[in-house]
Amino acid sequence: MKFNTKVIHGGQHHEPVTGAVMPPVFQTSTYAQASPGKPVGDYEYSRAANPTRQALEDALASIENGARGLAFASGLAATDCLLRLFKAGDEIIAMDDLYGGTYRLFTRLYKDSGLKFHFVDMNDLDAFQALINENTKLVWVETPTNPLMKLADIAAIAEITKKHNILFAVDNTFATPYLQKPLDLGADIVMHSATKYLGGHSDVIAGALVIKDKALGDELHFKQFATGGTLGPMDSYLVLRGIKTLHLRVQRHCENGHKVVEFLSNHPAVDQVFYPGLPDHPFHAIAKKQMRDFGGMVSFTFKSGKGEDAIAFLEKVKVFTLAESLGGVESLANHPALMTHASIPENVRKAGGISDDLVRLSVGVEDIDDLLADLEQAFR
Ligand SMILES: *Cc1c(COP(=O)(O)O)cnc(C)c1O
Repeated sequence: MKFNTKVIHGGQHHEPVTGAVMPPVFQTSTYAQASPGKPVGDYEYSRAANPTRQALEDALASIENGARGLAFASGLAATDCLLRLFKAGDEIIAMDDLYGGTYRLFTRLYKDSGLKFHFVDMNDLDAFQALINENTKLVWVETPTNPLMKLADIAAIAEITKKHNILFAVDNTFATPYLQKPLDLGADIVMHSATKYLGGHSDVIAGALVIKDKALGDELHFKQFATGGTLGPMDSYLVLRGIKTLHLRVQRHCENGHKVVEFLSNHPAVDQVFYPGLPDHPFHAIAKKQMRDFGGMVSFTFKSGKGEDAIAFLEKVKVFTLAESLGGVESLANHPALMTHASIPENVRKAGGISDDLVRLSVGVEDIDDLLADLEQAFR
């Protein structure tokens, strides 16, 4: 099956009792048993498994080309579950530009866990390899990153992690499997904030892990079952419904993204534009190699360099909504330093290039003329 068919049919079958084409929202916690320990069907208790969640998990495995998908109550719950594979003394090497909540999880929640986190520029493969030792158990990469659109070369990193027998996980939230398939490029695990493009309608908080190896997927399912960060049936239904139009939406996000980038690149008030589709973007070559297109996420800074200009601009947008999050059908604008990345200490943030005049746009699927007119009036 090709990808555009998989998003609709991958892992799916009609409901056996009624023939319903979409799985019903099985809003149930438990399932009848015929005799103690002998459930009537395949299910016992919804923390372990629920048919609506199962349908979503099978769809997730299908679209990412993995052996098993797991759906969580949020993206961070998915990442937290993955970290439970490791024990005190184990070391994790992470890219130095991460989603703020992931950074907070690694550096604050797991501070006293005995796990050791290293943060490194994953494009400096020598610096990365210098950190590897016998305790290294996981490499964690986000590509493209949020909000500066840095990339990491998934295939090049996978070659190294394979050699050292280290697990390699990729946060594929920004790219989605429509644009990039980390498991095909050699990664072991894909993580998603399904809150973003997979759900696609800004109506649900959800997360996912897709695992290439069946045994590791089963181990992670046990951890998910034992800790309980599962996704509810209604939310599972919403994400599954979202996935069915993923290919259409992301295609339009990309088209609109290109046009917004062209507009910003030619605008006198704009200084830098961060978008992997730009030929002078430092990671354009990697983007072309591992992504089908360049997505709908765009960041930019102001010529004035003034944070006040970014704030004034964000107070003026009308079609774009000033809000956290991304990846929904509606266009959103965000001030990383004061919003999504406020949890990162100021010195770390500034050193990483997240300046006060940086604005991040999640370009939606509205009519491009309305989006450009909105940006223009906000600049004025
Ligand atoms: C939003 C986001 C997360 C966290 O996901 P939640 O669903 O908010 O828990 C992780 N990584 C990236 C890249 C994100 O954008």
